[in-house]
Amino acid sequence: MSKDKVCGFLAASEDAKSWKEIPPAGLIVDAGNSKEYKTGTWRTFRPLVDKKRCINCLICWIMCPDSSIYVEDEKMQGFDYDHCKGCKICEQVCPVKCIKTVKESEAENLEGFDDKGRTTTVKINEKNEN
Ligand code: SF4
Ligand code: SF4
Repeated sequence: MSKDKVCGFLAASEDAKSWKEIPPAGLIVDAGNSKEYKTGTWRTFRPLVDKKRCINCLICWIMCPDSSIYVEDEKMQGFDYDHCKGCKICEQVCPVKCIKTVKESEAENLEGFDDKGRTTTVKINEKNEN
């Protein structure tokens, strides 16, 4: 399945604009233009997910205000960092607490996560976390 068809989510194109290129006052000048702006560039916190514990309930996908949760084959497939603004709502609503947000500055040094923030080897929010 192409990125463009993941549960109706419109993926970012390579020439998407950053928040600095958004019209003054955030005016929406064209319908359906949100995919053109890489709003993720203003993110301070980055969500990460432990796919070993994820139960694919898709509550995070329903609640994300920026349609930044990838879903394929009815399974949560990580985050669209081009648009995720790091609001932490997904972290709050996940019933099994397998999402964790970390500071962007810390996230860059983390190992064990793919480019959509998924891991199956790093423990996230487990009670006996080392
Ligand atoms: S809310 Fe949590 S358990 Fe449900 S799909 Fe999202 S990450 Fe997985
Ligand atoms: S942090 Fe906010 S914007 Fe990013 S994926 Fe989670 S709910 Fe969506």
